[in-house]
Amino acid sequence: MQVVDFDTKTITADNHVLETYRTCEEKYRLGLHEHWRPAEAAAALGFGIAMHEARATYKKLTMQSALNQLVIDRLVSLADYAIEKGLNTWDAEMPPEMKTEVMQDNKRSRRNFERLARGYFEKFGGDDFQSIRVEIPGKKFLGTTPEGWTMNYVYTIDEVVKHRDKVYPLEFKTMSGFSPPDPRFFSQFSNKASITGYIWATEQELGVDIPGAIIHAMWVQAEPKGKSKYALADYFRMDYTYRDDDQIEEWKRNTLLTGDDIVRSVQENRWKRNDGVACSMYNGCSFKKICEATPEIRSKLLEIGYEKKEWSPWARIDGEVE
Ligand code: SF4
Repeated sequence: MQVVDFDTKTITADNHVLETYRTCEEKYRLGLHEHWRPAEAAAALGFGIAMHEARATYKKLTMQSALNQLVIDRLVSLADYAIEKGLNTWDAEMPPEMKTEVMQDNKRSRRNFERLARGYFEKFGGDDFQSIRVEIPGKKFLGTTPEGWTMNYVYTIDEVVKHRDKVYPLEFKTMSGFSPPDPRFFSQFSNKASITGYIWATEQELGVDIPGAIIHAMWVQAEPKGKSKYALADYFRMDYTYRDDDQIEEWKRNTLLTGDDIVRSVQENRWKRNDGVACSMYNGCSFKKICEATPEIRSKLLEIGYEKKEWSPWARIDGEVE
């Protein structure tokens, strides 16, 4: 399914689509309009996917007696079973160089994956975050844009939990850096559009008013060789972020405006380059090699180092918009 469908005058977008467009239109053109992706898997992405898999498996097991029986039959703990699933994903998703002997002490190594997953389950795997639902994919009608387009919002909510008698969507994030997640790290979520989107989506899914979201963050850091001021439990921290109805309405209006902007770019084949902070954010933009090269060799570089693969988060969503 395309983001922009001119036949039905419909836009279908998830957070990745919206955030990429707002970050850099050229990045959107290369990755989401022309569907280029780096041919080699990125270690940070693979590690995050595997950790999400381990976590989702663990949380589903806490909810489903049939799966619990499966664990009991094999005489393994919930954590062991979930880690095994996560490690299978790690094996499938990580680039080859991460599987070499020399990388075994790396922060994203197989061994450290297991250490971090176990530490996370010990700290946040208890009843204080009681799972109501895990991994909720959905597509909902968001509204009509100022230019008259129908806009659908697509999402996968990591989890909805009951925590201290309130219901929240819970977002799980991995991060690296020099120290564990602190208030500065968590402050990025106070007006982050993707989180507002998940709060709105959770309200649509459950039909109740949701005050905000919980963020669980994991510091991806190698095991220290000597003494460290951080115990393993310090690697995992949480925070709340709240939205009222007016803020959610504002997010909706803003998202609809971005929908119109995407249509205009596609229609006119006109794309602005960021050429600034977005190029070096996080581990650097995956298209930096292309943008820093001279224009005449860019298509060759794309053919050598990238492959065509369409982004389709909504492929597994069946049925019509509700
Ligand atoms: S390197 Fe910079 S300009 Fe190029 S696509 Fe990435 S963010 Fe945009």
